[in-house]
Amino acid sequence: MPESQIECCRTRVISLSVIAILVTGTLIGLASVLPHYFASKQNLEQFNALHAQAIASAIDSEMSRYLDISRQIASRSEIRKRLEQYAAGTLDYQALVDYSGPRLTEAIRDIPDLVAATRLGPARETIFTHGAQIASDPLPGTRLRLFAATLGAQERWLLQANTRLYAEDGKRAIGTDLLYFTATELNRQLGMSSQFGTDAKLYLLDRHAARLLASDGESLHPQPLPAALAERLPADEPGTAPSVLYYRTMQGPRVVFYKALERFDGALLLEIPEAVLYAPALRDLLRISLLTLLMMLLASLLTRHALKPLIDRLIAQARKIQESNAELQLAASVFESTQEGIVITDFELKILRINEAFSEILGYDARTVVGKPLSTLFEAKYRAAGTLEAIFERLEREDAWQGEIWYHHPNDGEIPALQTISAVRDPAHRIVRLIHIFNDISEHKASEQRMQRLAHFDALTGLANRATLQQRIGAALVEARNNGESLALLFLDLDKFKPVNDSLGHGVGDEVLKAVARRIANTVRDSDLIGRLGGDEFLLLLNGAHPRDYAGVVAQKLIDQLSQPFQIGEHRIQIGASVGIALFPEDADSVEELIHRADEAMYHSKRSERIRYHYCSSN
Ligand code: GH3
Ligand code: MG
Repeated sequence: MPESQIECCRTRVISLSVIAILVTGTLIGLASVLPHYFASKQNLEQFNALHAQAIASAIDSEMSRYLDISRQIASRSEIRKRLEQYAAGTLDYQALVDYSGPRLTEAIRDIPDLVAATRLGPARETIFTHGAQIASDPLPGTRLRLFAATLGAQERWLLQANTRLYAEDGKRAIGTDLLYFTATELNRQLGMSSQFGTDAKLYLLDRHAARLLASDGESLHPQPLPAALAERLPADEPGTAPSVLYYRTMQGPRVVFYKALERFDGALLLEIPEAVLYAPALRDLLRISLLTLLMMLLASLLTRHALKPLIDRLIAQARKIQESNAELQLAASVFESTQEGIVITDFELKILRINEAFSEILGYDARTVVGKPLSTLFEAKYRAAGTLEAIFERLEREDAWQGEIWYHHPNDGEIPALQTISAVRDPAHRIVRLIHIFNDISEHKASEQRMQRLAHFDALTGLANRATLQQRIGAALVEARNNGESLALLFLDLDKFKPVNDSLGHGVGDEVLKAVARRIANTVRDSDLIGRLGGDEFLLLLNGAHPRDYAGVVAQKLIDQLSQPFQIGEHRIQIGASVGIALFPEDADSVEELIHRADEAMYHSKRSERIRYHYCSSN
């Protein structure tokens, strides 16, 4: 693997681990942070809802106070009785006014926030009035109304507490008390909006007038009810818990806490921008996320730090495996592509693997030989216990053996191989495998044999040549000398051979020489040594008990045989032979001398007209 690829691999493993940590961390972070965030949001909503409820309660109790005051004044029985008498016509108007005026003035004295008070009679006639003159209509029943009134040059928002007065029977309306209060407490409560955060607003919803009233703490400021909010307003019954409404303004999304009022036809609205309301939850979310992120980064760094040496070790191991794989591949390719036959066996010579060259050389395929002992393919001689023992002995001693082994080829007979066996040992030093490498040396053997023949035999006739003759006659001399035996050497030269060559050509002459060799071989015993000295000269060594006695007989037999015509193709050829005989030990003591003496004797025969063979001793 190239260096760049390894680096890429390393970076990828580390990156993936870091990404895995980041993804896992993010998921865990989200799983823990998000519920916390939503709970936090809910807490904030609950907190503000409670706050809104508290303000609504404060406003409600203030309004209750106004109504209670109004009710208390209305319920003053003596004054009410006089009004009832007036309504029944039993008391005149002036008497009623004179009676009620001081008493009502007394009753309303010291009531805080009260700006004005009016009592109207059954026909809405004014019976009593106190404070500023305010033109307003009475309301049916006992109710509160909020409205802007012009007091002097100033416009002021007033709360009108309206109480109906009834006759003793409780059915007949006899008048109305109208009390006007400055909305001080309402201003104070609605003016606290800033404590709910920037842009938070507290409103009083006046359903009757379909408007909202905000306060700067001093005065109320009306504004129309936005349609988007109006359609979300619940038809809440007073007393239920605050509702949370969501709507969107030009400035962004808003959350509204809505609490209906018990004493007023309206509700308290606490409107907070979503971003402001949920800011603490968001801050919490960010803080925890940041902390989680930091922890993940720390974990990633630690992981990277811990992984690096591990990966380096893995890469080093991978490299080694790669290298040994390459070596194995190389070995396998050598095993398969080499010209030498290779066999791997166990120590019992059982074949485990063979290569292609083995099959090609010996003609066995893997299926037929794997599992069999290699020695079953050896030629019988090499299967012999002694041979195998010698091989194993050498292997044990030197881990290697080299030598010639002949194999049996299923179709081509025996095949000689030059074989090297190498031992492979296990850690306990036991031989576990044997690697046999061998070359087919058939060619080499054949050419060796050819060379042998050329060196020792006459190429034309196949008989022993001059050198072989000399060597074998020498050996026979030594043996005969040692055993006290005799030898006879016959020197034979063809008569009139040259004319055959001259008249019929050298080729025919060669054929005649070959035929002569055959005739000589057929004439003598197998144990006799025959050879061609050269040209048309042949030697014959006779051994036996008394060669002297039958050398002449053999010579004559040869002469007779060779004097028979030769049929070479269409040519009938007539030649003859002259023979000289030299004896050992009588005539000579050495090979050269023996040949020389026989040659001399032959020469005598040539010169003789009659006798075609001569003993040298007879010269
Ligand atoms: P003589 O009767 O006196 O023996 O004479 P010859 O004609 O037989 O001739 P000689 O023995 O003097 O010479 C041998 C001849 O044999 C000479 C040569 O032409 C011939 N010769 C020698 N070697 C070969 C050979 O290898 N092949 C052939 N065809 N002829 C050979
Ligand atoms: Mg001759």
